[in-house]
Amino acid sequence: MKISINANRCESSPMRMFHPLAVAAKEAGKKIYHLNIGQPDLKTPPVFYDAIQNFRQEVLAYTASPGMPVLIDAIRGYYKDRLNVQLDASDVLITTGGSEALLLVCLSILDPYTEIIVPEPYYPNYATFVHAAGGTIRALPTCPEEGYRYAIRERIEALITPNTRAIMITNPGNPTGVTLTKEEMHMIAQVAKEHDLYLISDEVYREFCYGEDAGVPTMGSFMEEIADNLIITDSVSKQFSTCGARVGCVVTKNKELQAALLKFCQSRLAVATMDQVGAAALYSVSEEYYAENRAEYIRRRDLVYNRLKAIDGVLVQKPEGAFYIMAALPVDDTHKFQNWLLTSFDDNGDTVMFAPGGPFYETPGKGINEVRIAYVLCLEDLTRAMDLLEKGIARYRKEVMGVNP
Ligand SMILES: *Cc1c(COP(=O)(O)O)cnc(C)c1O
Repeated sequence: MKISINANRCESSPMRMFHPLAVAAKEAGKKIYHLNIGQPDLKTPPVFYDAIQNFRQEVLAYTASPGMPVLIDAIRGYYKDRLNVQLDASDVLITTGGSEALLLVCLSILDPYTEIIVPEPYYPNYATFVHAAGGTIRALPTCPEEGYRYAIRERIEALITPNTRAIMITNPGNPTGVTLTKEEMHMIAQVAKEHDLYLISDEVYREFCYGEDAGVPTMGSFMEEIADNLIITDSVSKQFSTCGARVGCVVTKNKELQAALLKFCQSRLAVATMDQVGAAALYSVSEEYYAENRAEYIRRRDLVYNRLKAIDGVLVQKPEGAFYIMAALPVDDTHKFQNWLLTSFDDNGDTVMFAPGGPFYETPGKGINEVRIAYVLCLEDLTRAMDLLEKGIARYRKEVMGVNP
């Protein structure tokens, strides 16, 4: 039996790669500190569950394909009040998470052999969405020495060909935490407009910005200039610590694209009703909710950054957003290092997991000595996890790489 070319071009998720080894380590009695999974640990706002509990329908029916009006209105209210972006109801299409939003966007704008420019390292699932639609990623290179910053006009324009359909960014970034300045955002918007490209702005980490006067950045600020180009993908998963809710959306003012997306939305009938009901309530959280979460993540970011910086040979810059830090470690290969941490290392029965850097890159061989660390543990656990990483690096260098300290 045959498997499709597009399916064969996709990779399985690198975040799950070490799962079998982790299970074996746990069975052997080890405790693992997980810095590998990008799932927030802060509490889901109770309004989510209250709304679901209060919802009764005699027959639990399909909702409208573009999404429930109550949720679309809640999202429009959030965009208006918090982001200062005015949306019509038809500008918002509800999807099963930001993941489906990205998949449907790729299916709607890509043809076989068309290209999409994405800064690397990038969220690995992007490759799956692009490949499912037959497209190809043109990686915009960055490096740890430059703190993974990618907003350089010449470098972006050098990648544009007649086959380019879109530029896709994550802002703030996963896996790097890089957050664009207002000027950088405007420059990228301009490049998209000048070259007639879609700009896909994945803003699921928008509320996680740590600069002094960072505000809440959105490409929506340039909506009027680039209304036909701009596609924002969004989700409740990270914003409200509700990854299990599976609710996201596509925001665009491009009418032709709305019509194309709607056909795909209709084909899968509707997004889960209960999830939408709960999600609609989430947008009623107060400003303090965002402020408290932000303060907690800043403490965690500072802890992880300071600990990494203090380890000899680690290359790291302070990221300004999301809940990730990417760093180059003084080891030969972080895949091998992770393997060793699970099979051959422990400190009083404890070990640690991160995501090796390689799979975040399109370019073969890049990211081999890099890791992505997700700081989604409480300060006490993060401290222990960083102790383990530091001890692990020292012992691995001595025992496996044969380096004398
Ligand atoms: C988590 C994540 C998403 C989407 O997650 P959903 O749970 O499907 O909403 C999209 N993009 C990035 C970069 C992410 O990290």
